[in-house]
Amino acid sequence: MAVADTIVCVDCGGTCHRQPFERPEFGWQVGDIVTFRCSDCADMWYLEVAEDDVAP
Ligand SMILES: [Zn+2]
Repeated sequence: MAVADTIVCVDCGGTCHRQPFERPEFGWQVGDIVTFRCSDCADMWYLEVAEDDVAP
């Protein structure tokens, strides 16, 4: 598993893109906050990185 590049917007069903798109220089850490911005309604979503996201 890995941190998603995009998620589905809960509000409008549009695509939310991770911002920034680049991965952190030293990789994701559990507890990091990942920001996604919806390209349709411009809502921002904040997801916390879970252990599943960083597991090999
Ligand atoms: Zn949306």
